[in-house]
Amino acid sequence: EKTAGRVLEADSVSMRFGGFKAVREASLALDAGEIHALIGPNGAGKTTFFNLVSGRFAPTAGAIRLHGREIHGLPAHAICQQGLARSFQITNLFKNLTIYENLRLSAQARHSCRFGFWRDIDTYDRLHADTAELVRFLGLEGIEDVKGGDLSYGGQRLVDLGIALASRPQVLLLDEPLAGLAAAERERVSKLVRTIAENIPVLIVEHDIDRVLGFSDHVTVMNEGAVLVTGCPDEIRRNRRVQEIYTGT
Ligand code: ADP
Repeated sequence: EKTAGRVLEADSVSMRFGGFKAVREASLALDAGEIHALIGPNGAGKTTFFNLVSGRFAPTAGAIRLHGREIHGLPAHAICQQGLARSFQITNLFKNLTIYENLRLSAQARHSCRFGFWRDIDTYDRLHADTAELVRFLGLEGIEDVKGGDLSYGGQRLVDLGIALASRPQVLLLDEPLAGLAAAERERVSKLVRTIAENIPVLIVEHDIDRVLGFSDHVTVMNEGAVLVTGCPDEIRRNRRVQEIYTGT
């Protein structure tokens, strides 16, 4: 099956650790313009699946394609260069650099790898413009000179999102982007992710079903390593087996 808007596709992907199959023939398709949530109880295989897509592990079977090109088996940095960015639950910002410096560093890494080492003033200006735009997009104007380590947890998560965006990815993978945030921050990050998804499809791993049903376009539920069901939030809410898994009834 070939769909025009298909950006990322995992096709019957499996991952075996010794004798234990953590992911069993899992398939998932991510289309342009969508937020797709991968949910499931602890131990369902979500993190392992994410690690397969981002290239931390190579799947023991199956295929993963980005814009139709196979990426499974490539090292993580090569997958990143192909346009897949990932943010971590544990923030990867530099605590003793400012917000601005953190974001500029990431934009710089992109310019260096795409255009060769940046020397000319043109590239420097573009770097500054890109970073300033990112600061504005994240709503961090006025505090761009604050050090990463002096930010609240929610603020650090925002910068972390910015660091992932600075590579101008074609697909964004977010690991529990709403976890640990206060209600107002959750609202803010949800809105940002919605805006991002207009241009870059977003795959989110989330443990808490209620947190994502409200703002995802599609949801894939994993259980015991396998995909149980994929559907829109309403279908997932009504699904009897999903209810069983989540409420134990
Ligand atoms: P989730 O993110 O949904 O909580 P995980 O992908 O972390 O699930 O884990 C799925 C299963 O795979 C768990 O039973 C876990 O113990 C096992 N697992 C994960 N990583 C490894 C590993 N490196 N070696 C062996 N088993 C692992």
